[in-house]
Amino acid sequence: MHRINLNLLLTLSIAVCQISYGQTLSKQVTDYVAIPDTTLVLKNVTLIDGSGGEIKYNQDILILNDRIAAIGESDEVEVLENALVVDGTGKTVIPGLIMMHEHLFHAKPFFGSYKIVQMAHTFPQMYLAGGVTTMRTAGGIEANSDLNIKNLIETGRRVGPYIDVSTPHIEREGFEEYIPQLQSLYGEESLENWLNYWFDKGATSVKVYNNLTKADLGEVIRVAHARGIKVTGHLCSITYREAAELGIDNLEHTFEASTDFVKDKPENECVYGGQSLFELEDDDPELLSLMEFLIEKNVTLTYTPVVVEPYTDREVISGGGDAALAPYLLAQMKQAHASAVNTVGDSISLVSFKQEMRRVMKFHALGGKITVGTDPTYVGKTIAGYSNQRMIEILIEAGFTIEEAIKLSSLNGAEYLEIDDERGTVEAGKKADLVLIDGDLSKDVSAIRKMEIVFKNGVGFDSARIFKSVEGQVGAY
Ligand SMILES: [Zn+2]
Repeated sequence: MHRINLNLLLTLSIAVCQISYGQTLSKQVTDYVAIPDTTLVLKNVTLIDGSGGEIKYNQDILILNDRIAAIGESDEVEVLENALVVDGTGKTVIPGLIMMHEHLFHAKPFFGSYKIVQMAHTFPQMYLAGGVTTMRTAGGIEANSDLNIKNLIETGRRVGPYIDVSTPHIEREGFEEYIPQLQSLYGEESLENWLNYWFDKGATSVKVYNNLTKADLGEVIRVAHARGIKVTGHLCSITYREAAELGIDNLEHTFEASTDFVKDKPENECVYGGQSLFELEDDDPELLSLMEFLIEKNVTLTYTPVVVEPYTDREVISGGGDAALAPYLLAQMKQAHASAVNTVGDSISLVSFKQEMRRVMKFHALGGKITVGTDPTYVGKTIAGYSNQRMIEILIEAGFTIEEAIKLSSLNGAEYLEIDDERGTVEAGKKADLVLIDGDLSKDVSAIRKMEIVFKNGVGFDSARIFKSVEGQVGAY
């Protein structure tokens, strides 16, 4: 066996890795590879395996090419003759993150509407650098570009996670004022034709948006389910209860997009629900009844706190990574941050943020299914990779244990996507999708920001090198 010094390995890019298990990697990919897929032992690590089970210490993980071959107490795992050995003392291993509300675009407000730019050249690799080995785009503004990027990654030509590509946001007229790039449906256009067009191209999830009728949603679910494809929604015109009755699989933004508590809400009409949620008590019987109904109907909720993280006492960019932004955008963000903190403050949004944490904890305690995602939209401070790391910290702030937080961010997503036989936990026999963290995550959640190597399919990518390569580019590329 060959013992290797990790720092040395990270400094000297391994130039020999042209052929990865089953495919050839382009130079654009190998430039970021720290450890090629090979016979490798991660020695003496702390393991949070994603199952929600207890943390294991002093573990050795044997990786053979693209798979985890064995895991055991240090020195129980037989180290093969030709194995590379990485000393993991003081380090933590978690599964690759599986994040469910991601986008390959960046959005920020512009005079009351949103400027949306596809981040085709930065976000895919930034997601991977932030530990995300599988992601779902929850709606696409340039869905064809999303499909191209997925294919480029899967054929070894680009760095990035596995991508479950959604359709564009399915939306009737009403929201184009805010997002002129939406692919709105007009009048009698056939939803069935439109959906099948995207399924034939390769979309594997559906995202519905604010302004649909119940008849529309029923049709979307019928067509998608006939092709074995799941439907998620950021709703407004349709209540959560109505959507669950119609058979929706997943609702975005946990309870934050619910209009179930708006008094006398007109059917099929999108009305502002924020005030009703703000006034809703934690133990309101209607809220508890809705939670129970969603659980009975097997509806998964996606929790997306990073996109609405308040300003007060918090970072300009959630999860750090200020340097990733194009300088003019960073300057704008800093100014917006300072004025929010110094003038209006954001006590209201802080209250809502905490309220939602309690609702999520309650839904979880009742047995509800929760996945997580980051949603790089809204005020523009949610940045791929950095925000995914921040997600774990917010789950701890909400009250989850680190074992639960990692499970929500890995296995739960794998189960929803029905890939849990291959991914979602660090387990012998599964694909080697895992993250080596420099620090003890079991004691200090902020260690999540110190990802050293992100393994996807057994190929280890240098997180810091990827982040470094895109500095100053986000918002533009
Ligand atoms: Zn979104």
